[in-house]
Amino acid sequence: MTAQPPVRRALPVDAELRRRAAAVVPGGLWGHMDVSRMPAGYPQFFEHAEGCRLRDADGNEYVDFMCAYGPMVLGYRDPQVEAAAAAQAAKGDVFDGPAPVLVDLAERFVETVAHADWAMFQKNGADATTTCVTLARAGTGRRKILVAKGAYHGAVPWCSPSVAGVTAEDRAHLLEYEYNDADSLRAAAAAAGGDLAGVVATAFRHDVRRDQELADPAFARAAREVCDAADAALILDDVRAGFRLHPAGSWEPLGVRPDLSAFSKAIANGHALAAVAGTDRWREAATQVFVTGSFWCSAVAMAASLATLERLAAPEASQHMAAMGVRLRDGIDAQAAAHGVSLRQSGPPQMPLILFDDDPDLAKGSLFCLEALRRGVYLHPWHNMFLSTAHRPEDVDRALEATDAALAAVARGFPAAA
Ligand code: PMP
Repeated sequence: MTAQPPVRRALPVDAELRRRAAAVVPGGLWGHMDVSRMPAGYPQFFEHAEGCRLRDADGNEYVDFMCAYGPMVLGYRDPQVEAAAAAQAAKGDVFDGPAPVLVDLAERFVETVAHADWAMFQKNGADATTTCVTLARAGTGRRKILVAKGAYHGAVPWCSPSVAGVTAEDRAHLLEYEYNDADSLRAAAAAAGGDLAGVVATAFRHDVRRDQELADPAFARAAREVCDAADAALILDDVRAGFRLHPAGSWEPLGVRPDLSAFSKAIANGHALAAVAGTDRWREAATQVFVTGSFWCSAVAMAASLATLERLAAPEASQHMAAMGVRLRDGIDAQAAAHGVSLRQSGPPQMPLILFDDDPDLAKGSLFCLEALRRGVYLHPWHNMFLSTAHRPEDVDRALEATDAALAAVARGFPAAA
């Protein structure tokens, strides 16, 4: 056993907030941001952020590589995005119907996303993925949906990773396939028989706690063929990757266009918004279904999205994130080699994941991340991380100073077996 390092500074404010939360919030917090899932030493509460710098409730500052789990794609409190949001807020946010910006934004999606003939807006990623599934069923009159084993599409009963509170009926018409395995996809489609409504695939394989896998173009083409043969919907869940990899859609470089795609996270740089984009084949179904929410038409997030997408449409945005991701990856690879630590970095450079060899309980990954944390760098031991356009070379270099010391600590804490 290695002793866990202390955090960079004590977290008394955080500890007090967590103590109070424990009494009035079930478990202290729900979901993916519940810090009790992380190695002990991570802060739960944050009070400020700007660019790629994040400050916790105790005033400790971090170079952040989580970007709020994806939404921050231009950096926290981007001045242009916040100005657009403030200008809309001055006029109002929710009305008896949408603001004109809804039409501007739908036009922007149709211009930018290659397969899109129309767009609809929601709040969270799960709203968008669930709407896609509903549209696939409405547009085909069929029930079966193929999903990749282990993929995350949201925390609602049809796709939640937890079975608590979920009935077998909620998932009665899901069939699983193995991501990047065209044969298993075809077998699942055969099992669906004449009842296939749609195939859901994420942009690449980004399941937690395992190496990420880029989408194999042959697999993407097979998914397209399976859907074409059955006149079923190919649904790209681009919630996590959308606009970080390619503004026209994450499968555009593969030459495969989905029928429906779900976006959220990055599309409004931190304002709550999701989108479904679709082709004309699914327009009638999208007209027929009843999907809505009290805040789905709120205008401030749409104004923020318009300002965000304008910037992300330029190829330089994803190229910059990729370049910063490569700088981080190359630096860590060189440091790991120098310290004799074997690790694996996977996924696109804009969304890196670092896992250590021989680390079944993630003890090495946890030590690495805690050592980086106490040196002012916020990494994640088992979920993919995110670069933003606000990460500058000097931020990455600052992070690399911390990772060098963190890898030295891993080498000390886990001396290679003689
Ligand atoms: N799909 C994917 C691929 C996701 O990564 C997420 C969120 N992590 C979702 C759907 C659900 O999005 P949300 O949490 O906004 O509902």
